[in-house]
Amino acid sequence: MALYTCEQCGMSVGIMTCGACDAELVHGAITKDDGTSVHVSKCPNDHGMVKSPMCCAQDMTCAIA
Ligand SMILES: [Zn+2]
Ligand SMILES: [Zn+2]
Repeated sequence: MALYTCEQCGMSVGIMTCGACDAELVHGAITKDDGTSVHVSKCPNDHGMVKSPMCCAQDMTCAIA
């Protein structure tokens, strides 16, 4: 299972599941038009994606546990 962990305070949260098919979201990254990359969690069945959770004003990093 994937966990997001904050490098600042050590808090971690479990990965979410898709509201449409209940599949566990997979970790990925997208590149925006301005060249910055954003970590996202997306449904493996293409139901959509959500941005990774944030904590302490930064993206939480994903570790596969
Ligand atoms: Zn934090
Ligand atoms: Zn889905």
